[in-house]
Formats: sequence, structure tokens, C-alpha cells
Amino acid sequence: ADGAVTGAIVGFRDIQDEVAARHELAASESRYRGLVDALPDATYVFRAVRDDDGAVVDLTYTHINLAAAVSYQRAPQDMLGQTLLTLFPGLESLGVFDFCTNTLITRQPGYLRVPSFDVNGAKTAFDLTAVPFGDEVLVTARDITAALAAKQALAAAEQQYRLLAENATDIVWQLDADGVLVWVTPSVESVLGWAPEQLVGTDPADLVHPDDRRVLDLRRASAYSGETVVPFELRLRTAGGDYRWISGQSRSTIGADGAVDSVVAGLRDVHDEVSARTALSHALEHDPLTGLATLSVAAARIDQLLDELSRSGRPGRTVGVLCVGVDSLKTVNEALTHTAGDRVMMAIAFRVASIVTNPDLLARGSGDEFIVLLPDLVSGADASVIAEQIRRAVHGTVTIGTHHVEPTVSIGIATGRPGAHGVELVRDAALAMHRAKDNGRDRFEFFQTRLAVEAQHRLSVEDDLRQGLGQGQFVPWFQPVVNLDDGAVIGYEALVRWVRPDGSVVTPDNFIPVAERTSLITELDLAVLRQSVQMLGRLPAPMVVAVNVSAPTLAHADFARWVITELTSSQVDPTRLHVEFTETELLNISERVRGTMGELADFGVRWYVDDFGTGYSSISHLRDLPIAGLKLDLSFTAGIAVGDPRCEQLATALVGLASTLGLDTVAEGVETPEVATVLRAQGWKHAQGWLYGHAEPAAARLPS
Ligand code: C2E
Ligand code: CA
Ligand code: CA
Repeated sequence: ADGAVTGAIVGFRDIQDEVAARHELAASESRYRGLVDALPDATYVFRAVRDDDGAVVDLTYTHINLAAAVSYQRAPQDMLGQTLLTLFPGLESLGVFDFCTNTLITRQPGYLRVPSFDVNGAKTAFDLTAVPFGDEVLVTARDITAALAAKQALAAAEQQYRLLAENATDIVWQLDADGVLVWVTPSVESVLGWAPEQLVGTDPADLVHPDDRRVLDLRRASAYSGETVVPFELRLRTAGGDYRWISGQSRSTIGADGAVDSVVAGLRDVHDEVSARTALSHALEHDPLTGLATLSVAAARIDQLLDELSRSGRPGRTVGVLCVGVDSLKTVNEALTHTAGDRVMMAIAFRVASIVTNPDLLARGSGDEFIVLLPDLVSGADASVIAEQIRRAVHGTVTIGTHHVEPTVSIGIATGRPGAHGVELVRDAALAMHRAKDNGRDRFEFFQTRLAVEAQHRLSVEDDLRQGLGQGQFVPWFQPVVNLDDGAVIGYEALVRWVRPDGSVVTPDNFIPVAERTSLITELDLAVLRQSVQMLGRLPAPMVVAVNVSAPTLAHADFARWVITELTSSQVDPTRLHVEFTETELLNISERVRGTMGELADFGVRWYVDDFGTGYSSISHLRDLPIAGLKLDLSFTAGIAVGDPRCEQLATALVGLASTLGLDTVAEGVETPEVATVLRAQGWKHAQGWLYGHAEPAAARLPS
């Protein structure tokens, strides 16, 4: 009660075993640490650092053995208590951290290779093992850098040896004066499968492919006739019975008696190379899509057929070529895909092949064309029968996915003529095929000679021209002529345009040549003259208009009268009309033209020589005729534009000549201010060209 202790109760428990066990544990732990320390591999013990949820977030070093301290060159006490990720953050991305924690989670030992980790500045490879102990993990890291390097070096060396061994394919052998093999390198076994002793004493000609015996005989003949180096390529039989392409070169040695006493040959297996070459030439001769022969093969075949025919002595027979063009393949390609286009081509190829059953007579032309050869044709009618069969055979829906294509072909037919070559016949057939397309497709046409086609073209243009003239489709457009000094427009040149009913505008080079071959040119010139004089009436004076006249118009007995009538009825000052004719016409001017020119000049009309500098007119012509001016041909202006000194010299000379004769000068085709400056400096007074304006309809040229 007074608070002092009066006694104590003591309880006893026997802990003999427990203490023994603890001692045992301590002993085993120290044994185990000793073991770890003694390990030659770097070894670490980590304890898991866990967050509130129990997840492992890092690993703390709790033990580091000697080898680890040595390999990291760090004192163990510097690392103990630290965590893995603070010391070596780089290990996380190498998967080491996950590897260790996985061991803790799965409670299974693990293994990981770290191919490259920077240790003290050297790339090092490790094999890691991890063993879990409670909340600790024991990790050993074995440095395998040297072992890996050695293994790689070994593999490389092995590879090199293998390469060497595999490529020791060159065979060298020696033949005696009789062509019997006296010696051969062991490599013959790896290349041809024969053991050297099987071959020595035999004639290697027995190994040569029958088809190559001729080559062999020729080569041998040259080698034994003393030609020192003889190359060859032939097939040799292997021990397995098949043949390999071998290329080689032999050298002959000449004995004291001057005869060949032995031949040494180096041989190399070129089988793969030759096979690739053969495949390539097949690819060049065959269309990859249809497998048909290509155009060049077809052309060669035609030449061969023509040749055979001419030697067969059967007159009246010829070779025909059909060019089968697929209609609107472009549309299929665009609307669907190229694959669809290919499918259509394939389908058509099959259908054509159902008529032309001999594959030697069917080829793929360029693009969407097939070429059909008709040997031994009696008449063009035979060709048309086949063309018609093909045309019909092609018909029929081709279904591609949900699309339906109705293919048709246009066929051109050409037949052999004396001296024609394969390529020419193919071209003729292609021309005819295009005409078949122009004429409405799904049909065939025969090739007509160029003259025939041109004549037909001319006829149709002539018809159109005549009709167009009657309907007033030829109208002058007006290109400004300016003063080079100040750029002021002094008038226009009338350049005819054919304005078609569909609104298209055709330039003169497309129809003047045809018109000039008929009387239509004069009608055309007059139509332009009439409209140009009307234009003069609407343009403010003193603006001028220049018209062009062709030789036939100029030579027409009534030309002067026509011009005077037009000018009078429009009440236009005749000096405002310039008439241009080309320098070439100046050369052969008749008395009548001379009279016409004089009459019109007297009336006031001014004559200009067009395209001056391109012809060969003499100065005397310029002096004798009533000429008012010269127009420099635009080819010289173009030459000046590109800095051609000859053009500059000629232009200077011409302008000098004109001023001596007191003639006006106009330079055509001026497209840039630079050229205008050059011409102005040379003394040209007037100019025309895109710099100042293109030819445009009258309405565009009239003051509004
Ligand atoms: P041309 O009389 O030598 O006409 C000049 C040509 O050069 C015109 O071509 C014109 O458009 C073009 N041109 C004008 N400025 C430039 C330029 O700056 N650069 C280039 N590169 N070219 C330019 P177009 O209109 O095609 O006339 C061609 C030819 O047709 C004329 O050559 C003329 O000989 C003839 N021609 C035109 N109209 C008639 C006509 O009514 N009757 C006759 N018989 N022939 C005519
Ligand atoms: Ca002209
Ligand atoms: Ca001209």
C-alpha cells in the first residue's frame, strides 16, 4: 500500500532451441553473406521499397559483394541504403527494375540479358539472375562482354571461311596435246560433283551438253591451232546427271616443236547468272500481263514471214498485220482502276486468242493494242474476214466486281508490200486502227498510203473551207502595229481566223496551205480585204490596216479593180490600206503583177514586203517596184531575243537598206521590252508582237 514492491512473480520458458536457432540463423546468414561476397560475379541484395498500396516503387541496396564494388569502382558503403533507381536511373528502361520486382511478385527466380549498359564509360553486356528471399531479392550480374565479343568474332570468322569455301568454285584443269584431262583442282567436286580421279584420263568433251558440242569443237580448234586465249561458255554434265552453265577461258602452251602441248582452262560456274539472263530475255520478249510476245518480237516475226514468203516463190501471197486497239480502255482505267483495265485487257486477250489460236501469231502491241499476224494471205478480203471474227469475238460483258464493261475493239489492217519491214507494217496497221477509232470504233479499216490519206484530208478540209467561206466563217482578227518610239498604236494587221460554228478558232497555217492549192485562197483574201476595209471605215483616221495577200490573189487580173471598188465604196483614204505580200513572191513577179502594183500604188495603196530577210530578193526589186515598207520576219526578232549576233547584224543591215531606199520599217514578233529596245536602237520605226497585243476580233479593237 505504501507503494513499495513487496515481491515478484517470474515466469520461465525454455528457449534453448530458439537461441540455438538464432545462432544457427546468424551463422547461416554470415555463411550466406560470405558466400555472396566470395562470388566472382557482381552480386547485390535489394530490399523492396513499397508505397502505401504495397506496390514496389524502388529497391534499396542492402548488400553488395566485392565483385560488384570492383566492377562499379564504388565503395559498398556509398551504395548501401541508396536505391537502384536513384543510382542507376538508366536501368529502368533496360527492364532491370521490372525484372527484379517481378521476381519479388512471382517468387520465381529469373534470368535477363542486358545487352549493353554503360559501366565506367565502357559498353558492357550482362546476364542477370534474380532470386527472391522474403522481401529481398538477390541479383547476380555476370559480365559477358568478352564472351559475346569472342562469340561474334568466331561467327564472323566462320562466315568468312564458309564464304571462302563456298566460293571456291573456280575449277582449273589441264588437257594434254590430245585433249585428255591430266589434272584438275579438287573444286571440281563441289561444282560438278565429280571426284578429280573420276575425270583424270578422260576427255571432258564427253561432259559437254550435246547442243554445246559445236561451240566446244570451235573453241578447241582455236585453242589447239595455237590461239593463246580462248573464252567459252557451255553446259557441263554434273555427277547428278544435270547440266550447269560454265564459263571459262583456256590458255594454250606451245611446246619446243611449235605445237600446242597442253591447254590449261579456268572454269567458273555461271549457271545462276545464265539462268537469270535467260529469264530476263524472256521477260523482254513477253508482255508480263498477258504473257504474249512483245511488239519487237512480232516485228521480227513479220520480217521472217515476209522473208520466207519471198523465198517460197508463191506470187500473190502476202503477210497481213492486224492492229487490234481496245476501245475506251482509258475510261475503264480512270473510272475503275488500272487493275480493272488489266482485267479487261486479259479478257480481250483470251477472246482474240480464241480466233488466233497459234500463239506465235499473237503479240501485245504498245499500250492497249494487240498485234495479229496473218501469214500467207491471198487477199485483203481474207484479212477482213479474220478482223471481223475478232471484232465479234471481243463482244460480251466483262464483269469486274459490281461493274460491267462492254469491250469493243477497233482494228487496223495492213498488208505487206514490196520492201516493207515488220515495224512499218505494224505502224501502218496502227494508223489504220486509229482511223477505225475516228470513224466510230468497233470496226476495222484498211491502211491507206499517206498520199491517199492526205488527199482525203485535203478533200474534206477543202469542202469545209468552201462551206465556211459561203457562211462567212473567215474573219480578220486585228493585231496592233505600234510606233516603236512611243508605243502609240498606228493601226492593225488583219490576220484571218476561221471561226467554226462550234466556236472553235482555227489559225491560218491549218487552212491557208490547202486554200492556196485551190482557187479558194483568192475568195478568202477578198473576204478578209472586204472586212478590213470596213474596219478602216470604223477606225479613226489616220489609223491603218494591213492585209495579207497570197500570190494567186495578187496575180488575179481583177485584183486591182476589187481593191479600188472596196475602197471607193467605203470612202476610205487608200493610203490607210497596206497590202502585204511575201518576199518570195517578189522574185517572180510577172508584168501583170507589176501593173497591178503600179495601178494600186498610184491609187494610194501602200505595198509592204512581208517576212523580209527570209527570201533572196535583190535590192533592185525593191527599187523598181512601188514598195512602201519592209516587215522584218519574226524569226530574226526571235533570234535577237536569244542574243544571236547574226540576227542582230542582219536586222541592222536591213533597217539601213530600208532607210537608204526611204522605206518604212516594221519589226514583227516583238515579245519583250528588251527586244523592243534593241530594235529601236537599230532604227526600226514600227513594231508588232505579243508585247503590244495578240490578234483579236474587230469588236475588241474599236473604240467603244
Ligand atoms: P504573217 O503575216 O507573218 O503574220 C504574223 C504571224 O505571227 C501571225 O500568225 C501572228 O499571230 C504571229 N505573231 C504576231 N505577234 C507575234 C509574237 O509576238 N510572237 C510570235 N511568236 N508570233 C506572233 P498567224 O495569225 O497564225 O498568221 C500566220 C500567217 O498566215 C501570216 O503570217 C500570214 O502569212 C498568213 N495569213 C494570215 N491572214 C491571212 C490572209 O487573210 N490572207 C493570206 N493570204 N494569208 C494570211
Ligand atoms: Ca503579214
Ligand atoms: Ca510576217
